[in-house]
This record gives sequence, C-alpha cells and structure tokens, in this order.
Amino acid sequence: MNEAEVRQLFVDSGAIMEGHFLLTSGLHSPLYVEKFQVLQYPEYTAKLCAALAARFVNDHIGLVVGPVTGGILLAHEVGKNLGTRAIFTERENGNMTLRRGFTIKPGERVLIVEDIVTTGGSVDEVISVVRQQGGIPAAVGMLVDRSGGKVDFGIPSQALLHLTVDTYTTEQCPLCAAGKPFTKRGSRKL
Ligand SMILES: [Zn+2]
Repeated sequence: MNEAEVRQLFVDSGAIMEGHFLLTSGLHSPLYVEKFQVLQYPEYTAKLCAALAARFVNDHIGLVVGPVTGGILLAHEVGKNLGTRAIFTERENGNMTLRRGFTIKPGERVLIVEDIVTTGGSVDEVISVVRQQGGIPAAVGMLVDRSGGKVDFGIPSQALLHLTVDTYTTEQCPLCAAGKPFTKRGSRKL
C-alpha cells in the first residue's frame, strides 16, 4: 500500500473526517482523526498491519509491543505477519508497564507499534519499558505520524501515513471567518 492508498482507506472508513471541528483543546481544525473508525474493520486493520510489518521483515524482530488500546490490535496483526509474539503495555497507577505475565527476553529485538503518533509520548514510554526489561528497542512502526515529522525516538521509525493537522484559535480560524458551521463529530464525512 502506498501513502495515498492508506489515506484513502482512512477517509473511506470515516477515520479521517474533513470539516470544521472543535477539538477538546478548544482549538479548531479542518481535520479530525478517529482511528477506531478504520480499526473497526478487521479487513482494513489486517491490510494496514501487513503493510507495516513489511517494512520490518529484515530487522530480526523477535517481539512486537504496542500500548493500549489500538496497540493491542496492531501488535497482534503485525506480530502475525512477522511470526513473532505480540504483547501490549498498559498503565498502572499512571505508569506504562507490562502486566498479565508478559515478559521480554534479555536481548530480544522488539518492534514498537502505535496507531497514531502526535507527540510520541506513549511510544517513548513503551521504549523505556522494553529497555527496563532488557530488550532491545529495534524500531517503531506507526500507522499515522501526525507530528509533522517532528517525532524522533532515537531509533529507526516508519509510518504508513504522514498527516499535518492544522489547528487554529477561534480568532485565527479561516473556517470561522468563512462562516462554516461546526461539523458534528462522529458523523461520516460530509
Ligand atoms: Zn473555526
């Protein structure tokens, strides 16, 4: 899948919505991304994860790890393609950790997967967990990098789709200036 095909899949499934959105931050945006609109289709999730896994076939990956919630699905599907185990991290008292008896073998090469990366904070935390367990964080695989290319994990990374999402204050918003009403979130593309 090339980048245009990935974007089309997100748009067709309603995961990328275009309109005039009021974000929880109070800022306005012409784009809203709801990853589970695409991940709700197992067929699409499988396609995306196969494309993501293909980027790492030569990296001698022994384990795939993702943070809850989307990371569970991604790790499972990418791990299936790479023929590895797939586990996930979750928060306990605010700290990212492995639970459920999950372990990482010393020296195991680990691929970290995440659905949408904005600041990269969760991925950084997963990388720390991998290191604490004695594993080697080998690479990061993302479905969507919406950081505008700003994220740097200190290890190789790949994204299927790069998105730049503009945000505006009410005063600066060109959509407000154009008198465009807000789009109700959760509705399909208008
Ligand atoms: Zn606006």
